[in-house]
Amino acid sequence: MHTAKPPIVFSCVSGCSDCCIYREYYPSLEFGKIGVLILPEEKQRLERLARKKGLALRIIPRLAVGLKGPEKIIAYQMMGKNADGDLCPFLDLEGDLAPHGGLRCSIYKDRPAACSAYPVISEKPVGLDAHCRFCKKHSTTTADRDGLQHELESLSKIRAAVKAEDKLHIWRYATATGTEKNMLAEGWVLEI
Ligand code: SF4
Ligand code: SF4
Repeated sequence: MHTAKPPIVFSCVSGCSDCCIYREYYPSLEFGKIGVLILPEEKQRLERLARKKGLALRIIPRLAVGLKGPEKIIAYQMMGKNADGDLCPFLDLEGDLAPHGGLRCSIYKDRPAACSAYPVISEKPVGLDAHCRFCKKHSTTTADRDGLQHELESLSKIRAAVKAEDKLHIWRYATATGTEKNMLAEGWVLEI
């Protein structure tokens, strides 16, 4: 009798810090690289944490809603500190390593909800971001919910907060960040 293999439970790949380092061009190259998604209620707290640590932090808008223009910002983004848009300013490059051997987040218990949710990107069925090194290693594996409760809760929180209001247009902020030549100028672009 054929028995299905049990899904492999998610855990960070030994020594990996990819999700705190690399940022992607999204939704296309022209929009530039995106930063870590920051909810409006998280922005000031992160700015305070950066000030306390003497870190330069660049948080810019990400999504807004509004009929005639970007009237209400529903998400911000925290940009990487390198010129190419990579490397989270809160990643500790000098201290002790995390238990899995990767670099540590210097604000781990206060990290943004997007970091707490990662690599979960969908709830039913549970889907993991293909950019995560765990997924690259176990590409044929369906993740189960074991060990992902915290990530799933954070994802629900983000979905509830970023839900665009009915009948309003969505505006996306082009970051002009990265090494591509034909990026849009930094600023708002009407999406829908
Ligand atoms: S990319 Fe995936 S495996 Fe690597 S640190 Fe991030 S969550 Fe863990
Ligand atoms: S805030 Fe922490 S967990 Fe989030 S990307 Fe930066 S270093 Fe990584």
